[in-house]
Amino acid sequence: MADLKYHWAIPVLDPSKRRYAWKAYAGGHYAQACGRKPALVLGDTAAQFVAKVKTDPDWYCSDCVKAARLALTKESAPKPTPRPARSCSNCRSGAINPGHHGRAEDTDLDLCDVCYWRKRAPEPRPIGEALDTEIIGYCPDIGWRRLSRIGQKWVLTGIKQLVYYEPTHFLPLPPSPEAA
Ligand SMILES: [Zn+2]
Ligand SMILES: [Zn+2]
Repeated sequence: MADLKYHWAIPVLDPSKRRYAWKAYAGGHYAQACGRKPALVLGDTAAQFVAKVKTDPDWYCSDCVKAARLALTKESAPKPTPRPARSCSNCRSGAINPGHHGRAEDTDLDLCDVCYWRKRAPEPRPIGEALDTEIIGYCPDIGWRRLSRIGQKWVLTGIKQLVYYEPTHFLPLPPSPEAA
């Protein structure tokens, strides 16, 4: 008996593995989703095919309908959002807040906020090149700090105690908005 139902065509990457695959005029290979011999086949998207099935369910191959419904659910399933790591892979800090403090939602999720921005900071330069009076300076004993120049010496910015530091490198600060 002839198969008088409509079937759904799906693209086939390797036609040697599908018994009834055919070559489309527009290029590429197709096969019926149910795997039967090509008959009345529709080159619809899954959504189009499923919509047609709703109007006349009896006209459509039930295996092809199943395949199209499955494909449609997969398409519309929400994409899993990447999860940030529990602690920073660089410094073990737990302060990982994607989407906050100007961070992107989905990049470097294994880095804490500080390491995220440090990665994007300009290359540290030798302290001898520092011309500004305020820098982010690297001191071997305390790490990266905001420093202000007093004469030839460096102190922690905003700290009254005059303890001098000897940074070896610095990162230029971004220009302040009014200077730009
Ligand atoms: Zn079919
Ligand atoms: Zn970190």
